[in-house]
Amino acid sequence: MVDVVVAGGGIIGLTSAVRLLEAGHRVTVLSAHPPEQTVSAVAAAVWYPTHFEADDRLLLWGQQALLELARQASEGVPGVTMRHSRMLLRGATDTPWWAQGVPGFRLEAAPSPEFTGEWRFTVPAVQTRSYLYWLIEQVETLGGSVVRRTLANLGEAGGDVVVNATGLASRELVPDPAVHPIRGRIVVLSNPGITVSCRDEDDPEGGIYVHPRSRDVVAGGTFEPGQNDLSPDESVTGSILRRCTAMVPELARARVLRSVAGLRPGREGGPRLERAQLPDGRPVVHTYGHGGAGITLSWGCADEVVTLV
Ligand SMILES: Cc1cc2nc3c(=O)[nH]c(=O)nc-3n(C[C@H](O)[C@H](O)[C@H](O)COP(=O)(O)OP(=O)(O)OC[C@H]3O[C@@H](n4cnc5c(N)ncnc54)[C@H](O)[C@@H]3O)c2cc1C
Repeated sequence: MVDVVVAGGGIIGLTSAVRLLEAGHRVTVLSAHPPEQTVSAVAAAVWYPTHFEADDRLLLWGQQALLELARQASEGVPGVTMRHSRMLLRGATDTPWWAQGVPGFRLEAAPSPEFTGEWRFTVPAVQTRSYLYWLIEQVETLGGSVVRRTLANLGEAGGDVVVNATGLASRELVPDPAVHPIRGRIVVLSNPGITVSCRDEDDPEGGIYVHPRSRDVVAGGTFEPGQNDLSPDESVTGSILRRCTAMVPELARARVLRSVAGLRPGREGGPRLERAQLPDGRPVVHTYGHGGAGITLSWGCADEVVTLV
């Protein structure tokens, strides 16, 4: 058993903490922000390896996370549901690299002449804000603790081993210049009864999606590398609502609850999940840079964090 300090209380830090506690370690999570102020709380958040190229590690982590979230959905974990999904295609219809192990994956005929076909599949959708609180409860029930604290550097974290799950802040804390913000804007609406997720990644005005969750619907969304201004932009909200309603007409009956923006922790070369050393010689396990797929990869990465610790 080792004393582990997890820096970061978003989806990556909290799922790592749960797995480390289950493996018998002593765990303290340090988070600069309350759950609702993390990027994780903004996430749409459906299982989908957004903007990642084929990669064996991502495939494995994604498959493990999908299995775990599907299990949680079947056990009634709050905010986790399985959703039938449609992906409208405008180009090649070949089976994508991530389809292996995705329940119900198949190609169907195009719904109208502007499309070439559509993929259907079933994946988890997570009401992230409440899920983060559920994860904190799991950490505490398993004997760990979650403490509000901002680290000036990773060496300030105590413990025999530090797990660095600070997302975008890893750019300065590691430091890692490959880390960069990818702004996402979404609109959260009341759910008028939509049960199927729908995406059009190649919409000529930019990718769009409509994801019903357990309590609301997320309509999105932008994917803007290098942008970090989070001030509201009504023209983007209007464009998202117009195009998403054209794709899923039931959305016209929904009430807009809020427009939100967040900065995904992007990283050139993909997520970093490896063991290294702090300047004082202690081991650090880095797990950051999950871009637009932190929920999609979460539990798979958490399993590997335990192996590396
Ligand atoms: C609009 C939008 C839609 C998205 N949709 C999806 C989706 O559908 N599916 C999906 O899989 N992903 C989605 N994502 C991506 C997902 O949100 C991220 O990949 C994920 O939240 C990253 O989690 P994280 O724990 O690494 O980072 P964060 O949630 O940012 O957590 C970082 C943690 O580190 C802490 N921290 C930072 N600095 C310090 C410090 N100095 N000291 C102590 N603690 C510190 C913070 O307080 C926080 O607790 C979306 C993101 C956005 C913005």
